[in-house]
Amino acid sequence: MDIGGKKRSDNFEDRGAGSRRAGGGGGGIGVSLFSFALRKFGFKGALVAGLALGGVYFLAPEEVRQSLLGDTSTSSQGAGKVCEASPKNASACDFSRVVLASTEDAWLKHFSQGGLPDYGRKPNAYQLPTLVVFTGSVSTAGCGNATSAVGPFYCPADNKLYIDPGFYDDLAHKLKAPGDFAQAYVIAHEVGHHVQHLIGSLTRTMPGETKNQVSVRVELQADCFAGVWGHHARTDLAITDKDLSDATQAAHSIGDDALGHKDEAKFSHGSSQQRISWFKKGFKSGDPRQCDTFAVKDYKAL
Ligand SMILES: [Zn+2]
Repeated sequence: MDIGGKKRSDNFEDRGAGSRRAGGGGGGIGVSLFSFALRKFGFKGALVAGLALGGVYFLAPEEVRQSLLGDTSTSSQGAGKVCEASPKNASACDFSRVVLASTEDAWLKHFSQGGLPDYGRKPNAYQLPTLVVFTGSVSTAGCGNATSAVGPFYCPADNKLYIDPGFYDDLAHKLKAPGDFAQAYVIAHEVGHHVQHLIGSLTRTMPGETKNQVSVRVELQADCFAGVWGHHARTDLAITDKDLSDATQAAHSIGDDALGHKDEAKFSHGSSQQRISWFKKGFKSGDPRQCDTFAVKDYKAL
């Protein structure tokens, strides 16, 4: 990837450091996030989707109540800017702004051309989401509080994407998915959830399917949308074959099976193979209409 001289998005917010970086990015659950949103908006409104680090799922209310007991996170924000904390953070922030700007260009184009999957909602022009960086914990407007343990996530209530730059280290080391395009894929996946929010697929249901199955459809579509952005960025950001394989590795690493989830009925994001396949579908075609995971009638055929 080459980000030199590229546009930086100003839809960027440095929220500073929260109280702590809970869980180090693995295994925790953004409980308060869901419980607040559940109380305020009900399940559909609480639909906050992110990358699975064993963390962000479509939690059923009973799961939330159960997990709440173990939630001891606290939030105290504003203890210093994330992007100014270290040269590494500064570079992560800068990189994130370039990727965000590139997603803005891609989706402004797709929304203006009207080439989107149809869920009965005619979206107007693309509304630009804001990317919030934080460390430790963060408060959202409408989705409650979250710690870094949930991984990057999207809050549909405030149209913001939330990322702790420390996640990039987890991605490179714990999840063995290094490379800047792997990081870009993470941002583009969350942007994909924003697109879903605008076109009406984020809260879609499928008759006869469990919440987990619908969640897999939603997540695979976000992977495909990330690929659509990747297609757009090929020239703009000089995406190479190595970059593509880095993103594929990331998609593999965060598949439900790769994360050790044995029971397919409990999958929330799809297998490694599925995540790679849908990402590539978007990347090769550059066409969001190819990302209609809801048009695949048989769940097993996804
Ligand atoms: Zn997601």
